[in-house]
Amino acid sequence: MRKGFLAGIVLVLLVSGIFLLGNFIISRSTESPTTPLINKSLALASPVYKISIIDNSTGGDITNNTLLMDNINKTPLISEIIQASGNGTPMIRLGNGSHPRVMIVAGVHGAELPPQIAASNLINHLNGKKINGTIYIIPFAIPRDTATNTRIHNNTDPNRVANIPGIAANTISQTAKSEKVTLLIDCHSTKPHDIPGKNCIIYDPKNPKSFKLAFYINNNTKSPMIKVGNHSGVLSTECNRNNITSVICEVLSPHSKIQPGSDKLTYQYMIAFLNYAGVYSYDN
Ligand SMILES: [Zn+2]
Repeated sequence: MRKGFLAGIVLVLLVSGIFLLGNFIISRSTESPTTPLINKSLALASPVYKISIIDNSTGGDITNNTLLMDNINKTPLISEIIQASGNGTPMIRLGNGSHPRVMIVAGVHGAELPPQIAASNLINHLNGKKINGTIYIIPFAIPRDTATNTRIHNNTDPNRVANIPGIAANTISQTAKSEKVTLLIDCHSTKPHDIPGKNCIIYDPKNPKSFKLAFYINNNTKSPMIKVGNHSGVLSTECNRNNITSVICEVLSPHSKIQPGSDKLTYQYMIAFLNYAGVYSYDN
């Protein structure tokens, strides 16, 4: 009787062991990604972020940019994005996909470092925070150019070709459109004595909502407002044409360098933008 009882227990343990092993194998195999999307979720909440590659022609090893790396807090999340940058333009989505949906872009010019630092800091700050809507952040728009610390690639300014399909800046505006983003800021830095050569918010006079957004950021940061030039292929202009209200946020900083405070001012632009959109308030 006792022998039979023990044998029964052994049998039950064996069967449940096989069952658990089977489950483990099944759950592992269903995790293998069939798309370039990477989903992460905390135990307590619905998915908190998703990283995707929106353009696989722009990849680069941005760890080669040592000044940038020295000024970024490489949390596990940022390390994941840095690694993804090797495959192309990384985009992180924070929030559950609800509206409003807004987008922050940095690094269209790879040698402009303050916006890329501020975007990384913002990602770290927002990770796990309550978001009333959805925030898309593209911290390194063209990793290849960030890796080599350049603003111009093949004699082409990436922010003058956003109207050409297949080009990185165009893909960004198309992604914003397809994700139903309604507001977008594109963050840059400008070297002294260049155009614009100062801290400023650049709006599109053809879109009154662009002026309104610029005015709000101006009010919160004291950076003056100026009108965008009549260039074709500017990402923010392309967005405004596609019904995505947009401004360019500039800080003064030499190319491939970090003017003290310039990354912090960019961060303030980003926070003001999120406040304007109503998706995040800094003190929640
Ligand atoms: Zn720029």
